Amino acid sequence: MPNTHIEIININDCKISTEDQVIPHERRIVEGVIQLWKEDPITESLGIGKLHALVKKRNPNWSLSEKRLKTVLKSYNLLNSAEQFAYASEITSKDTPNLVMPKNIRYQFTKNRGKGLYATKPFKEGDLLWEEESPLFFIPPLDHMNLIKSSNACTYCATLLKTASQLKKGLDCNVCSDVWCSIRCKKKDTLHGTLKHNVYQEGKKSKKRIVSAAWLRYEKYCYENKWNAAHAVALIYAYCLTDKTGVLLQQFDAFAKVRQDIRYKAIDSSGIGGSFDTNSGGALFVKEQQEALWREAYAKFNEIFPLDEITYEQYMEFLGSYNINNVDGSMFLIQAHLNHNCDPNVRVLFGEHKADGIKVYAKRDIKANEELTTSYVNPAHDVNQRLRELRVNWGFKCNCNKCKEDKKALEKRKSSESKDASHKKAVKEMLDSAKDEEFDLPLPNGDGERTRRKSVRFEETVIAVAED
Ligand SMILES: [Zn+2]
Ligand SMILES: [Zn+2]
Ligand SMILES: [Zn+2]
Repeated sequence: MPNTHIEIININDCKISTEDQVIPHERRIVEGVIQLWKEDPITESLGIGKLHALVKKRNPNWSLSEKRLKTVLKSYNLLNSAEQFAYASEITSKDTPNLVMPKNIRYQFTKNRGKGLYATKPFKEGDLLWEEESPLFFIPPLDHMNLIKSSNACTYCATLLKTASQLKKGLDCNVCSDVWCSIRCKKKDTLHGTLKHNVYQEGKKSKKRIVSAAWLRYEKYCYENKWNAAHAVALIYAYCLTDKTGVLLQQFDAFAKVRQDIRYKAIDSSGIGGSFDTNSGGALFVKEQQEALWREAYAKFNEIFPLDEITYEQYMEFLGSYNINNVDGSMFLIQAHLNHNCDPNVRVLFGEHKADGIKVYAKRDIKANEELTTSYVNPAHDVNQRLRELRVNWGFKCNCNKCKEDKKALEKRKSSESKDASHKKAVKEMLDSAKDEEFDLPLPNGDGERTRRKSVRFEETVIAVAED
């Protein structure tokens, strides 16, 4: 086809509005911002106001409000962390009653710092700091529910059973078909009869505090929705109500807590909630759907405990508290007081058996009065990934020394990369001359800029962690 003239018309690119102002297409906005970041990495940490001013300065004919810029960046998952929602200030906790501290460990509760554990004497690397023989609340994995029902897993700890030999050992329930894996589990399982087959008849007046028929319905509902946290909080509440001393309920109440619906806002501000959630899994809903689900679960929850109903707000707190405090599903009384550091000085080890306790060791030498810390996230992960994971799941922006150093190193690398690659001018010329189609947009599911891609990969983890 010789001499064919092709006229390029950008239909979607921009609409001419009044005078010389144009309303830029969202692609153009994103490209503009990324271009800015590439040329000067420092601008990546600007707040939305300053970023908007810069974008406007470079594109004086753009009709673009700060609000639209924010919305567009959010929808491409590019929102600066300074603009993202954190909820650390919403987390409250109370002094823990009846807390027996291990030798040489001090517990401190301050209004500002919250709870923390401190060494009262120096420790050597590898020293055992303390042991918790069993969790305060042991929560078996919900996904084994059907195996338990078919007598193939222990009804207390959900460990798979190899043979039906349990029946001979007297480890089977004489009312239902459930079995235990060991004498220990059978002894620990103080709730079995209460939850699975107490004789309370619904509708009749009774002093029974737990309605087993409602429990079984709720458990099935949680199983079908793969909703571990909902299952866990009902089990925890049942343990608390059957504790005659009342201490268990006070201790549960003293754990750090935050409403689940507040935590959800942080997930949303990661750009993975709402309509933008495409490839990142089906566990997230738009806010309205999510709330409907919470309300539904809440109503079913109260059916189990007719004499001890809780409010919706309390239910939200139960879920939030469980989600920020559980380790591998269970809740430990002392361990839960450990604060986070990306370079922790303690190591928490689990026993072989699911319902076993934990042992906490010194990861390195620890000085007297040093705070003991654990890492809530994988310390080997990239700093941006850690920061995002901590912000979404625990509501705070980590400012530990490792984060500061890693960020510095990252910024250094970025600025030297941008200098090495080409002069700013050359980059600008290249970008200016390029047609829109030639840009590689760092779309969350496409091949984009390296550091941004990581945060996208992380989203799958958020879903697994936050809504489990
Ligand atoms: Zn067991
Ligand atoms: Zn039974
Ligand atoms: Zn950190």
